[in-house]
Amino acid sequence: MTWKTELRLDDLDPHARLEAFCTACSAARYYTVQELLARRALAHAHLDEVETALKCAQPGCRAPVTLYEVSAGETEAFQGGMP
Ligand SMILES: [Zn+2]
Repeated sequence: MTWKTELRLDDLDPHARLEAFCTACSAARYYTVQELLARRALAHAHLDEVETALKCAQPGCRAPVTLYEVSAGETEAFQGGMP
């Protein structure tokens, strides 16, 4: 189990940010939790499912991404999932 399988998107602060880092071209794209919750399919998804659903935003890449938390000071609840 990791924080990604334990935490659901709607457990997080809506203003927290997540970084999707491309496994192929290393491009990083930032999403707010609120932005991802607006996608109906992700509203109750665990973070590992969000990771699977997101793809690299670079044109012509679309490779899988790895999801990271972005520490922002106000996201204390989110850090509870870290070892
Ligand atoms: Zn990419």
